[in-house]
Amino acid sequence: MYDNNNIFAKIIRKEIPCDFVYEDEKVLFFKDINPKAKIHILGIPKNSVVNFRDFISKTDKETVKYFFDKVVEIINNLGLDKSGYRLITNDGVDGNQEVPHFHIHILGGENMGGLR
Ligand code: AMP
Repeated sequence: MYDNNNIFAKIIRKEIPCDFVYEDEKVLFFKDINPKAKIHILGIPKNSVVNFRDFISKTDKETVKYFFDKVVEIINNLGLDKSGYRLITNDGVDGNQEVPHFHIHILGGENMGGLR
């Protein structure tokens, strides 16, 4: 069940600030407060979905495509299409998801090595 008081819901409602990168009526991109790479952006849809599976199953196809098109736009605008990047979404205990609002981590700006 979606928790309306999670920190990203508060950021969407402008109850707490964020280091904003891009926003429109459907999506929001902002800098991670604890960056794990030189570039670390979080992308979120504004509808109330907990994780990746929730986003895909509860969101209309146009909005899902819109979100991922914006992810590509942000990647290109940051020049990460040339240097490379990593996309991550965490879910559940083993994924170590901290904030229960679906989000994509966009990481780049340096080589991040192999996965673990
Ligand atoms: P996850 O483990 O995938 O849920 O990651 C949550 C991410 O949100 C972490 O990388 C945090 O550093 C980041 N985070 C938490 N609070 C904020 C905030 N107020 N502004 C920006 N990023 C945040």
